[in-house]
Amino acid sequence: MKYDVIVIGMGPSSVFLAYELVKLHKAKNILLIEEGKKVEDRKCPIEKAGKCVKCRPFCNITSGFSGAGAFSDGKLSLYNPDDDDIYVGGELHKYIGVKETKDLIDYTDKIYLDFGADKKLEGTEHKDEIKKIYDKAKKNEINLINIPIRHLGTEKSHELYGKIEQFLANNNVNMKFNCIVADIIVQDNHIKGVKVKDSNLIDDPKAPTEDIFAENVVIAVGRKGANWLTNLCEKHKIKTEAGVVDIGVRYELPDEIMKDVNSYMYEGKFIGHPEPFGDKVRTFCQNPSGFVAPEVYDNNLTLVNGHSYKDRKSTNTNLAILVSHHFNHPFNKPIDYGRNVAKNLNELGGGNVVVQRIGDIYRGKRTWQDELDNNKVVPTLKAAVPGDITFALGYRTMTNILQFIRQMDKVVEGFADPANLLYGPEIKFYSNKVVIDKSLETSIKGLYSIGDGGGLTRGLMMASCSGVYLARVLANKIAD
Ligand SMILES: Cc1cc2nc3c(=O)[nH]c(=O)nc-3n(C[C@H](O)[C@H](O)[C@H](O)COP(=O)(O)OP(=O)(O)OC[C@H]3O[C@@H](n4cnc5c(N)ncnc54)[C@H](O)[C@@H]3O)c2cc1C
Repeated sequence: MKYDVIVIGMGPSSVFLAYELVKLHKAKNILLIEEGKKVEDRKCPIEKAGKCVKCRPFCNITSGFSGAGAFSDGKLSLYNPDDDDIYVGGELHKYIGVKETKDLIDYTDKIYLDFGADKKLEGTEHKDEIKKIYDKAKKNEINLINIPIRHLGTEKSHELYGKIEQFLANNNVNMKFNCIVADIIVQDNHIKGVKVKDSNLIDDPKAPTEDIFAENVVIAVGRKGANWLTNLCEKHKIKTEAGVVDIGVRYELPDEIMKDVNSYMYEGKFIGHPEPFGDKVRTFCQNPSGFVAPEVYDNNLTLVNGHSYKDRKSTNTNLAILVSHHFNHPFNKPIDYGRNVAKNLNELGGGNVVVQRIGDIYRGKRTWQDELDNNKVVPTLKAAVPGDITFALGYRTMTNILQFIRQMDKVVEGFADPANLLYGPEIKFYSNKVVIDKSLETSIKGLYSIGDGGGLTRGLMMASCSGVYLARVLANKIAD
């Protein structure tokens, strides 16, 4: 048996690739392989257990049908028709052009709408109010990017991806779950297939593997697979470029402080380059009335993220504050750097996310449980352990974050209030950037890379678009 296409991973990039191949009548002989479960079997037990129980063999938040999308807040970032660039979601437009990317976003957005996404777009009204915030930010050397956003909501994301899973099953797309792609098969620089093994045998290096063959193989492993992808590139000499790792915290503050940004834009994307380092510091994934959540990565690393539901609400807003770190010589291992930071901070929290009041950082002390219990801002992640984040985040990261918060306080009054909470570590891993051409093909013939894992995209909409785009490329290669 030889497939036309094998896709590794079933995140949004993979799912939309399969959807488009179905629409183009080229999906008869494709196979999607996912180490996690079907979307309907994915459940995060944290609410019942009161803490993250580190699901085995994989975290249900990051693995399974629709990947990190299933429990995501489901904010689909679109674009401004007036902008002559695409500012959010990665670099797809650098390969295929801005106009083509905008057309792809329109097309992909329509698919989300067809599967039940909310018709309402955030950030398209209140132009005058948004301009006032933009001007205030500019005065304080912060750039505000306002992009129209379609908000699915965590519970609705799950439901919507469930319908897409059903659509693919109804159209006879082959999907293999609980199955890890352990390696790829390459001969004379051409892809031949993949080696797979049962996910439950993940810890057994001697577990048997099965060879599955294909003309084309697509890597769609997301940030969850970034480390796996780095090792794969090293082993098979797949060309890569120096990558980046985004390290920071999840910041939680009362809705009241964020009310203008929340109500006019839903999510404000603020970007600064604070002194003295001038590194890029940005807010990301803002969740009004949302909840802070853990996510578990390889080697049991617990990171922090956030989401919000359409119906269930807290009284806090959470958002990531991330600092981009580049390395070159002699050290060039951004993933290793991020993992070390995460490991140290996890150890300080007894294996959990650490939470600290920003006022305690100003005072040069850790946060204690009784102080947290009496804090004005009540944490929404109950499993987070109070402690001292500054023990683990480097001076450069920490200075960038604190300076940025001070700058933001001049744009949004109360942003630096001492009761606000920092949770860590929030880290966005990308493998070293996989070198691809306009067809998204890697340096190995027939091997393609889409989505977040190889550094092409950063977010649901663009990951999905990269899948649609590659489907069209592959459709021309697949015989009728
Ligand atoms: C809590 C949370 C909230 C988020 N909120 C938003 C948001 O509001 N808006 C937004 O734009 N983005 C959000 N994101 C990010 C978004 O989910 C990702 O950008 C998107 O899912 C990337 O899609 P992908 O297809 O590249 O990879 P992923 O969704 O990461 O999927 C990759 C899949 O590949 C599988 N896999 C990896 N390695 C292997 C292997 N070796 N063998 C088999 N399978 C493998 C994984 O199990 C996973 O299911 C959020 C993420 C999280 C975790």
